[in-house]
Amino acid sequence: PSSRALAEHYSAQAQAAPDSMKAFWMPFTANKQFKAAPRLLASASGMHYRSVDGREVLDGTAGLWCCNAGHARPRIVEAVKQQIETLDFAPNFSMSSPLPFVLAERLAELTPGDLNHVFYTNSGSESVDSALKIALAYHRARGEGQRTRLIGREKGYHGVGFGGISVGGLPNNRKWFGPLLPGVDHLRHTLDLERNAFSRGLPPSGIELAEDLERMVALHDASTIAAVIIEPISGSAGVVIPPDGYLRRIREICDKYGILLIFDEVITGFGRVGHAFGSQRFNVTPDIITAAKGITNGCVPMGAVFVSEKIHDAFTHGPDGAIDLFHGYTYSGHPLACAAALATLDTYAEENLFDRAIELGDYWEDAIHSLRGLPNVIDIRNFGLVGAIELAPRPGAPGTRAYEVFTRAFHEGNLLTRVTGDVIALSPPLIVERQHIDQIFGILSDIIRTTA
Ligand code: PMP
Repeated sequence: PSSRALAEHYSAQAQAAPDSMKAFWMPFTANKQFKAAPRLLASASGMHYRSVDGREVLDGTAGLWCCNAGHARPRIVEAVKQQIETLDFAPNFSMSSPLPFVLAERLAELTPGDLNHVFYTNSGSESVDSALKIALAYHRARGEGQRTRLIGREKGYHGVGFGGISVGGLPNNRKWFGPLLPGVDHLRHTLDLERNAFSRGLPPSGIELAEDLERMVALHDASTIAAVIIEPISGSAGVVIPPDGYLRRIREICDKYGILLIFDEVITGFGRVGHAFGSQRFNVTPDIITAAKGITNGCVPMGAVFVSEKIHDAFTHGPDGAIDLFHGYTYSGHPLACAAALATLDTYAEENLFDRAIELGDYWEDAIHSLRGLPNVIDIRNFGLVGAIELAPRPGAPGTRAYEVFTRAFHEGNLLTRVTGDVIALSPPLIVERQHIDQIFGILSDIIRTTA
């Protein structure tokens, strides 16, 4: 049977027998609630999904911030098909195949500064834990093994590994899982609805929050601090845009004290805010970048850690034959992922997709801010092709209003959005056109207007 026929077969099966949905323990989902009224996608192409009940659904979120070139792009599909027929797997421990090398060179051309070395992972979470380990090992390799302290931020999201949740700052992701990593501190978050509500692009107020890092240096001494990890724009916390100048000031403080700066670009990488990386758009170069999602357009799991020359070089001074870094995954540099990534980079380049967030930035901004004044809308945030609409929480029932808007958008509006807490988050594929933007905010406007 064709792949489409198979997808339809399984979709029909899932729909006919909701009981058959028990075994899959869905991630980050209220499983009982979901299974009582499932939302199932059957296929996808370009800007649209098709739901199992046959509706065309506009993708307002690039899947989960990952399908930046839109869905089922022929070049990527073909590359993956050919690759699985040619070389389905090759180990990368003291053995390899050509593709990871070819891809790494291509990626190194896209990264800012001299972040010219690529360590492959399979997800954003793995990228984050790898980056934290590389930062610790880097200091140790240089004889500064006392630099063990890691600094994250309140509201930060860095995936779900123990390292990631330790430096992360979302209480629900932390509180169930014990003491986490020792020696971690958090800078305050920068979301300030009082001073910055409805600001367009970078919020004007809050640069002084970067001085939290100076306070941590004063408290612990710089000689104990290994790295600071920051999402240039945090997505999972409900889209927090950095105050104007904030990232630059963090960079200055890190430079002053020899602290490594890690940008977690799992969502801001690969064109989401213009340029290949958010670092370039913000004109602040970190020492390490973590990435995933858009690297393969979401179609094969892959992540990457990009490190600067100085970091990479610190690992190459051991005796001949010594392993540089005692870290890696069976699937680091998987051939299918590499093939998907190369075809994805070709697609981004051919269609100039990294320019889209800048070309469409003003249009996107005007469109999303046209929702200002609708009932219960307490903030709107945007940057590049990222947007957030924050709704006032219902008394005693936080999140329920946004969740209702999200489900109604899907069922009634044929629009896929993302809900996190009281925020509706948007991040369309970069192939989005003005007409889709009009459609997204037209649908959301109708639904928010009629959601009590
Ligand atoms: N870091 C950031 C900034 C993210 O947004 C995410 C995922 N949304 C992750 C890490 C984790 O990525 P993954 O789900 O692929 O592990």
